[in-house]
Amino acid sequence: MGIVETLRHALRYWRPHWRLALGLLAMLLVPQAYKSFFAYSQRVIVDRGLLGHDGAALVRTAAVLLLGFVLAAVATLLADYLGARAGAAIVNEIRRRLFAHLQRLSIGYYAGTPSGDIVARFTSDLADIQKSLSTRIIDAVLASVGLCINIPLAFILDWRLGLVMVLGMPVVGLGTRLFGRRAAASRYELKQQEAAIAAFVQENVTVQPVVKAFSLAERLVARFEAQLERVARSFVRAEFSAQLVGSGSSLGVRAIQVVVLGVGAAMAYGGHLSTGTLVAFLALHAVVSKDAYDLTKKVVPALIASSGGLRRIEELLQQPVAVADRPQARRLERVEGPVRLEGVSFTYPGGARVLQGVRLEIRPGERVALVGPSGSGKSTVVQLLLRFYDPDKGAITVDGLDLREVALSSWYARVSAVFQDSLLLSGSIRDNIAMGRPGATQQEVEAAARAAEIHDAIAALPAGYDTEIGEAGGRLSGGQRQRIAIARAILRDPALLLLDEATSALDPATEAAVNATLDRLSRGRMVLSVTHRLAAARSADRIVVLEGGRVVESGTHEQLLAQKGLYCELWERQSGIEVSADGAAGRVDPSWLAAVPLFAALEEGARQRLAARFRARPVEAGVAVVQEGEEADAFYVIARGKVEVVVAAGAGERRLAVLADGDFFGEVALLRETVRSATVRTLFPSLFLVLEKDAFRQLLQEHPALREGVEAAVKARGGRRWEAV
Ligand code: ADP
Repeated sequence: MGIVETLRHALRYWRPHWRLALGLLAMLLVPQAYKSFFAYSQRVIVDRGLLGHDGAALVRTAAVLLLGFVLAAVATLLADYLGARAGAAIVNEIRRRLFAHLQRLSIGYYAGTPSGDIVARFTSDLADIQKSLSTRIIDAVLASVGLCINIPLAFILDWRLGLVMVLGMPVVGLGTRLFGRRAAASRYELKQQEAAIAAFVQENVTVQPVVKAFSLAERLVARFEAQLERVARSFVRAEFSAQLVGSGSSLGVRAIQVVVLGVGAAMAYGGHLSTGTLVAFLALHAVVSKDAYDLTKKVVPALIASSGGLRRIEELLQQPVAVADRPQARRLERVEGPVRLEGVSFTYPGGARVLQGVRLEIRPGERVALVGPSGSGKSTVVQLLLRFYDPDKGAITVDGLDLREVALSSWYARVSAVFQDSLLLSGSIRDNIAMGRPGATQQEVEAAARAAEIHDAIAALPAGYDTEIGEAGGRLSGGQRQRIAIARAILRDPALLLLDEATSALDPATEAAVNATLDRLSRGRMVLSVTHRLAAARSADRIVVLEGGRVVESGTHEQLLAQKGLYCELWERQSGIEVSADGAAGRVDPSWLAAVPLFAALEEGARQRLAARFRARPVEAGVAVVQEGEEADAFYVIARGKVEVVVAAGAGERRLAVLADGDFFGEVALLRETVRSATVRTLFPSLFLVLEKDAFRQLLQEHPALREGVEAAVKARGGRRWEAV
């Protein structure tokens, strides 16, 4: 973005404030006119007053100068005030536009943009342009107005000297022409790097548990220092080239000054110019030079300095709104059902295909559970139903109407969602529940809270419904936060309720209680609940099983068990593990061990002995239970919870898999002395059943038959994903 374009954008922001701008312009004209008159008056003072001995002319001129001075002083004060008001109005206008635009950008945009970068556009970029859009633009107008008055005046004083002055003008623009473009480009580069630093710091603040757990501090400081070095280099380049523009131009201004003085003095010496005219011309030229200098040394570098920030702000404002209403979008007055996914295929921007030809129907009043392994595309279905994205192929229909033809706000008024993380916004508990339906009364909010079985807990807080979410943070349990989110969802009396792992992160007793509430609130509505925990899906009217983005099975719990397919396999894997109500203890069923290839060949008695050696280990979210490069010393079964398996890749890490209830990893530890080839980190609070290497070896020694069984299995087994750990 060059200087001209920066100016053009700046003026566009001024347009809504044209009244202020006109008032400001009027106020600026007064001191400029005074300066011109001040210069011109020297001719009268010298030629008529002093050389012509005209005392009356001297007194008249002095009186007019005094009056002009007072007027100019008042006008300057007023201009300063109006300028400050305009600055505030313009920057707030940009903030308002940016924020409103952010609300309309797609979830896809947020998925691909670090939040620190967005915040930087609001803070440092905007701070950068605030001054140039207000004060500097006023300086620019002031100087331009001055030039417009004074150049004709110079011709009136003496056209020959005026010509010399004007012919020298192009030299003034030399700096801008030579260095302007490069200066603007390096400023943009600098702003990008500053935003990268902001994003890096922001991410660092949120991932501190990982930094501590992995001792990443030194590595991160080194990376940060490398970024700092880059930004320092960019700063020098940007600052120096901006100053080159200014210095180049102001040198031009000084050169003309010398020429005008020389030519003028020669003309006066030769009798072609009166002394008064020469004095007045030089005074006027000083004013013109000052204006030209201000334009080139102050205004232009400031515009360049702000061009980087302005470009980044414009970029954000021009981000297309991916999912928006069609021009003739229909408003849904009511939704009865069914809601259908008709052959939906979907790929995330820049990602691999996640859903392929998915057909799924939720009939009026029907509760459908969507289950399947991690990464099979369950949450993606919810995101499409919320129209965060549109399908690439196929369509989602509501009462036979394509969702793309429907006005978004009318669809959102009929749908509610509860996610795994109950995102509560800053504000009171009442505000958070009332968000479900604008204009809800206190009675309605309380009724929703009662339905979600959270009213009594809220009423017991000292400030009741007025408790601030931030303050209550520590006092609200995960289950209570989730119940507030449920109250918010239910207040809308939605036709379709979407539950995306809504209770997965809760301990078993709380999960069961919240699920009972949800079951009750679900009656008579269409519900799609996504869960990887099959016990929670069991009571659904219909269970749909996804695998690799395709629907592979569908039916009731009993029908699916009878089919002996993927659902049955997942069910057996999960139901063979018992977890206590508080989620702190668990037990693996001996028959479950048959699913682990290493133990598949064991006798029932041997499996029983093995099962008894597993120890329960509850772990918080965000903890690395197994770390890449560390000695492998145990085999893990996930009784409840969710983990990610990652390996170091370059400066960051790459995710290999997400594992959940009933999955296992780390089997290699039991077989040989080795180190972990990947890191496993909990995504939510999890309970593991752990078999230590030493306990296992001891068992093998005590029971030779068990050893034979294991060795046979080692020979027979093929490659499986848990070998990664
Ligand atoms: P599930 O809910 O069954 O665990 P998801 O629907 O969350 O599965 O994800 C399906 C696949 O889509 C995964 O491979 C995941 O990595 C990928 N994915 C999810 N969200 C995004 C995104 N915003 N951008 C790119 N890929 C994504």
